Amino acid sequence: MANILIVEDEEDLLTTLEYNLKHEGYQVYPFQSGEEGLEWAMQQGPPDLAILDIMLPGMSGIEVCHRLRSHERTRNTPVLFLSAKSEDIDRVVGFELGADDYVVKPFNVRELLLRVRAILRRSGSQSQPAEESLVVFDALKMDRKRHQVWVDEQETLLTSMEFKLLDLLLTHKGRVQSRDTLLTKVWNVQNTAIQTRTVDVHVKRLREKLGVMGDAIETVRNIGYRFREHPQER
Ligand code: CA
Repeated sequence: MANILIVEDEEDLLTTLEYNLKHEGYQVYPFQSGEEGLEWAMQQGPPDLAILDIMLPGMSGIEVCHRLRSHERTRNTPVLFLSAKSEDIDRVVGFELGADDYVVKPFNVRELLLRVRAILRRSGSQSQPAEESLVVFDALKMDRKRHQVWVDEQETLLTSMEFKLLDLLLTHKGRVQSRDTLLTKVWNVQNTAIQTRTVDVHVKRLREKLGVMGDAIETVRNIGYRFREHPQER
């Protein structure tokens, strides 16, 4: 999995980013100063992506980026800038330095995660998906290996539980999966009243995220759920 360097002096934000990126399966290297982040990148790196806050107490994110660009080892490291400022000048400076993307605070973490994925995909630091890991059903496309899902070519960000749930239902399409089965296979727990409702809550959220494909997951009354066997006539 990709290595991601983060330099952000706001401790809360750094922790939030670290948590969310780790949750996505990335290896994360968080630092609160540009000097420390740069040192890590030079000695332990290069990372597959550097997320750099621009306004830092010592060395600025722009300077860190500049230094990364000027060393052979880190020259091609993709950079995503974080900034509290929204002036266009920052954007220009960011892209002139060869930043791959730019996010203005406050930002939505999910949005950031999508951008991170997009950058890593473009930079090719993650291997291309093998054909057999791609599953297409109607407007739904799923990459099992990379845990990505698209509906009508738009990526939809699922939690790991939602992904497992969808994967299981889709793999057994046309066959009913009881709530107990889902609990055992997706959550690895045995049935209780509360946990059975958990399945319903997750299926509801998953359907919402799947948009036009949400109704491909059918409710089988008093039993559980089933992924529609054949694509629907539209
Ligand atoms: Ca800052």
